[in-house]
Amino acid sequence: MDYLNKEFSYLLGLAVSKGRIVQESMSIYIDFKHKFEYIQGIKVCPNDNSLITESRKTGNFTCKNEDCKKIFNLDELNIKKWDQVESTKKSLLEIIAPLIESLDGLKTSLIGNSQVSILKVDFTNNKKMFSYMLELLNYEKTFKNTRIPDLIIDEGNEETNIEFFNAVLDTIGYFNSGNHYTNGRMRGYIQIVDNLKLTNDIDNFLYSAFNLPVQTIRWSHPNIVDGNLKYYFGTSREGWAKENQIKFFPEFYKIFTPKIIHKNEMMEEQIKFNENKYLHQKSNSYEKRISPLKNLNNIAAKHPEENSIKLDKELRGRHIDREWQIGVVLGSPRIYDLYDLNDDNKEIFFETGEVTFDNSYETFLYKKKSISENKFKELEEKNKNKVKTNSKKTSSKLLEVETYYPLQVWLKNHIKENHNSDSLVFDSSTTNLNNIDFEGIDEIIEEFDDFDIKPDVVGITYNNKNIFLIESKVTKLSLEDLSQTIGYSKVIQPTEAFLISTEEISSNLLFLLDVYPEVLKYNATQKVKIGKLASNEVKFYDL
Ligand SMILES: [Zn+2]
Repeated sequence: MDYLNKEFSYLLGLAVSKGRIVQESMSIYIDFKHKFEYIQGIKVCPNDNSLITESRKTGNFTCKNEDCKKIFNLDELNIKKWDQVESTKKSLLEIIAPLIESLDGLKTSLIGNSQVSILKVDFTNNKKMFSYMLELLNYEKTFKNTRIPDLIIDEGNEETNIEFFNAVLDTIGYFNSGNHYTNGRMRGYIQIVDNLKLTNDIDNFLYSAFNLPVQTIRWSHPNIVDGNLKYYFGTSREGWAKENQIKFFPEFYKIFTPKIIHKNEMMEEQIKFNENKYLHQKSNSYEKRISPLKNLNNIAAKHPEENSIKLDKELRGRHIDREWQIGVVLGSPRIYDLYDLNDDNKEIFFETGEVTFDNSYETFLYKKKSISENKFKELEEKNKNKVKTNSKKTSSKLLEVETYYPLQVWLKNHIKENHNSDSLVFDSSTTNLNNIDFEGIDEIIEEFDDFDIKPDVVGITYNNKNIFLIESKVTKLSLEDLSQTIGYSKVIQPTEAFLISTEEISSNLLFLLDVYPEVLKYNATQKVKIGKLASNEVKFYDL
């Protein structure tokens, strides 16, 4: 089937980077986010074209140039401003929708709200193309699991490759001036949610299709996001699980032209700014990104979340000191070509940043390990004291995400004590379910994928695959919360289903439960258990 033209490649790019695929209605929904109504351009010093930044201490807007340091009142500066919502809708209706509808039989429609515009692409009149699309997307249902298809990698030409990447920029590319490099040089970035492998695919594609440099990658990994274990010892143990960001200097990316109008204009503004100031500086190549670990400087502290099931299998249990190591593990032609890596020297390169190492290799690994373990112990000690002195403060209200970890610990114990089994317990809202690999649960995981919103915490016993669900709230429980839990439970039929809040039940729900006690039931014999979370313990209501 020969579908690979510019338009199809663009559509495929949208689906890979931000698509949700609905087989039943033969459609793909694509998100275009615009969190705030307005977005501002770069604040430039009129004297020397340097960047003006806000000081965190004083709140003043000051020129970054050490010789200038002038303080500005924002009103006297000519800062560009875009209405993101309007620009996104206009671009979708006038540019992107007509382009997609030029493909045989495809229809589009637009829905959304103040924070997101969603383009629905309806394939009902071209079933063949839809089946082909499903195949290319490897039958994945959301952008959290998609990869760049081989069709693009192996058969793309310059034109189709450019259009594919334009689509990536339109959906998950950003040109916010706040994400500049330390010296003030502007960076564009691609933000990939919950999909480390797609992040690696995009980096590889930029290299193999265009030979373009990337400045750095902020991978969603505990050693990288939470190097000093602030989240770990703080309120959010899994706070390291953020979006991945590929950062690049836009002046090298001129071949691309986003179709979302404000992104296009913001990119142009960044290019102009950088060319005015930084053209003499060469791009950041991988050679510079890879710093050998031999001198044992900056070894990261060990992080217990290195074993998290949120990490892809290849990375689980691996300690990471530098971002490029993740590329080595996941497979990076950029690095492999540069250093002639193969299966024999890959591992040594991962550990050392060098292709060969003398006979002190084992000693080196040992030293590295003990440094990172000692750093962990130091941080642990430091934070123990902190908790003691701040214990009064911790009574403040929890966020919903902060309840997930204590609930996971509680559920594991509860299953062990009451069902005599070890279990896999995870928070399903942010865990990439494709990473969970233990035999016999594929079908269960498939069913979870059908929910738009997932139960917060899920437990599955190792012995007979019994399922446990927790829906967690930090507000007074309402009938709406209960209905959601009942909904999951009717589909999944868990061994136990819990609705747990840090607050009491609302008076209205209490009343309803008294009048209609059957609303708790999700089958003939089982009902949802309602509890309250306090000091990491759950107390159940007698209902
Ligand atoms: Zn200045």
